[in-house]
Amino acid sequence: MNILIASSEAVPFIKTGGLGDIVGTLTQQLAARNHHVKLILPLYSTIDRSQFQMVEKISIMKVQMGTVSMSCRVWQLTTDAAYEVYFIEYNEYFARSSVYGDNNAAYADNGKRFSFFSKAVLELAIQLEFRPDIVHVNDWQTAILCYYLKTWKWEKDFFNKTASVLTIHNLGYQGQTDLSFSSFMGLNWMQMRSEEFESMGGINLLKGGIFYADQVTTVSPTYAKEILSEPGGCGLSAFLIRRQNDITGILNGIDLTEWDPEKDPTIPANYSKSNLKGKKVCKEQLQSTFLLPINEKVPVFAFIGRLVDQKGLALLKNCLDTILSWELQLVVLGSGNPYFASYFGDLPKYHQKKVGSYIGFKPDLAHLIEAGADFFLMPSLYEPCGLNQMYSLRYGTVPIVRATGGLSDTVENYDEKKGTGTGFVFYDISANALEKTIGWALHTWYNDRKSYSAMQRRGMKMDFSWNQALIQYEAVYDKALERRAHWH
Ligand code: ADP
Repeated sequence: MNILIASSEAVPFIKTGGLGDIVGTLTQQLAARNHHVKLILPLYSTIDRSQFQMVEKISIMKVQMGTVSMSCRVWQLTTDAAYEVYFIEYNEYFARSSVYGDNNAAYADNGKRFSFFSKAVLELAIQLEFRPDIVHVNDWQTAILCYYLKTWKWEKDFFNKTASVLTIHNLGYQGQTDLSFSSFMGLNWMQMRSEEFESMGGINLLKGGIFYADQVTTVSPTYAKEILSEPGGCGLSAFLIRRQNDITGILNGIDLTEWDPEKDPTIPANYSKSNLKGKKVCKEQLQSTFLLPINEKVPVFAFIGRLVDQKGLALLKNCLDTILSWELQLVVLGSGNPYFASYFGDLPKYHQKKVGSYIGFKPDLAHLIEAGADFFLMPSLYEPCGLNQMYSLRYGTVPIVRATGGLSDTVENYDEKKGTGTGFVFYDISANALEKTIGWALHTWYNDRKSYSAMQRRGMKMDFSWNQALIQYEAVYDKALERRAHWH
């Protein structure tokens, strides 16, 4: 198939969270299955131009937004990869210090930035004479593209056979934006009904995208069910139920080359499930990096992620006094909400030799933590898929998770009697439930190391390749084409 992928993030170019990982890897994987794939991204100034060689493809490309004709430039990555990558340069929108906002506040014109980008993606496909079978868009940033695809009078009906697939990576972010942008976005009164883009007196880009997409996917089977009721639906459940038959939950795979303890070049020693010696070296290095006592016997619990409410950090904070009175060490890597950033950033001051933290975004450090830690904490309130628990399983770092979304689909609770399971699972959204589960994990570490090691190895054996996911995406693409054929 001809597949056009539009996204605000994709590795290795730009990533702020799981969205970047998934889009980058899915693009590669689809190309490896011989689809013709083009990936289009905004040209942010944060993309390292010295690392990625680009040539100018189109010096002036016009994009019509409402009554405004805008001019942008298009760059193409020079690469021998099996897929093509293009970047839309429009400096007023994308040459900023970060991707979505500064000082913990989203840019006020995000709706304009990304609707312009979405329209530009389709304009570029025409310029390249690339007639896609599928346009695959991701989250609120590119959701409006599904509307442009179906309603804009494209020259020579260029897209009249093209179907759209919208992947929801996280329903917590919907692109709620200002009503005054409607004419710029080309939304008229029809689209501003509550069935389409209107929401709470403003424009909800994700909601409108869901209305127009031929198929909708989300990133795990459990999350696909959770979003059909509240609170999982983040206010959109009633609306999602109307598209229930067009929603598929497909569990993300992981990038098995980037996250491979046997070959990972960023960690001090490699290891495998049959020989875990290298993991001890990684643990030493981790403890020393975070100025913790180097002690193989004391387990290291770790957290990596965006410091936002979703990740269950309040639960961790509320049981911290108790768990830090136990014989363990804690390592935190994250960035985001200033309240959590200062709380977790300051912890090492008050709990020297017990807690280490780094506030910032540091991929190499994430690898060291996955390799060196003994337990990985994901007490998420909700988790569409979650990647870190899969990286942890692969690196022999036993996850402790709340049973939600993709965490439910990937981590099997430890059963002491049967000797099964790959991690420790709790259910209630409560600090007490988390505390008890950390206690249980700690007890297993100190009193039943054999079972701990067996669990570690069971996790390391799991298959997180993209094979299953790709077959499912292809089936969704077929369904989208079928629905498109009947759309008028
Ligand atoms: P989400 O998409 O909600 O952010 P995921 O678990 O799906 O959560 O993916 C997060 C990705 O971002 C993982 O690859 C994780 O390692 C990475 N990540 C998150 N925060 C940091 C950080 N501070 N430094 C390095 N990597 C991070």
